[in-house]
Amino acid sequence: MADPRDRLAQMIEALRDKGCRLTPQRLALLKIMAKSAGHPNIEQIYERIKADFPTTSLATIYKTMSLLKDMRQVLELTTASVGTRYDGNRPYPHPHVICTKCGQILDPEIAALDEVSQETARQTGYQITHHQLNFFGLCPQCQQEGSSA
Ligand SMILES: [Zn+2]
Ligand SMILES: [Zn+2]
Repeated sequence: MADPRDRLAQMIEALRDKGCRLTPQRLALLKIMAKSAGHPNIEQIYERIKADFPTTSLATIYKTMSLLKDMRQVLELTTASVGTRYDGNRPYPHPHVICTKCGQILDPEIAALDEVSQETARQTGYQITHHQLNFFGLCPQCQQEGSSA
C-alpha cells in the first residue's frame, strides 16, 4: 500500500496542475481516496463526505471522481458481483481479490505477475500495456459464518 499522505499530495498537485479549485469538500474526497480503505463505492464515499459537509451533492462527488479518473489518479474497478468500486491508493492496474458475499476487496501482492505479463507477451507477440486480474471467493470472515450456519 502506498503512503496515503504521499498519495494525497500527488492528487492535490494533479488537481492544481489542471487549475481545479480545491474546495474543503474536494479535499475531504481526496483524503478518503488517498487511503481507499476496502475500495469504497461512490455511495460510501458520498455518505462519509456528507457527514462533514451536509450540502455536498452526489453529482459533485461524481464530477470530482471523473476528473481524478481522467488524470489517472483513481482506478475504477467494476465487476458484476460488487458493482463499481474505487482505488486511489494504487491508481494503476493491479490484481484484486474480491469476496463475493460481503464485497470486501483487497490488493494481493503477487510476485510472479511480471513474469505472467512477460510470458503473455512472448506467447502472443503483443505489447502488453495493462491488465485486469480479479480473483473471486469468500473472505476468511465469510468462510467462518458459512461453516457455523
Ligand atoms: Zn466476505
Ligand atoms: Zn486495489
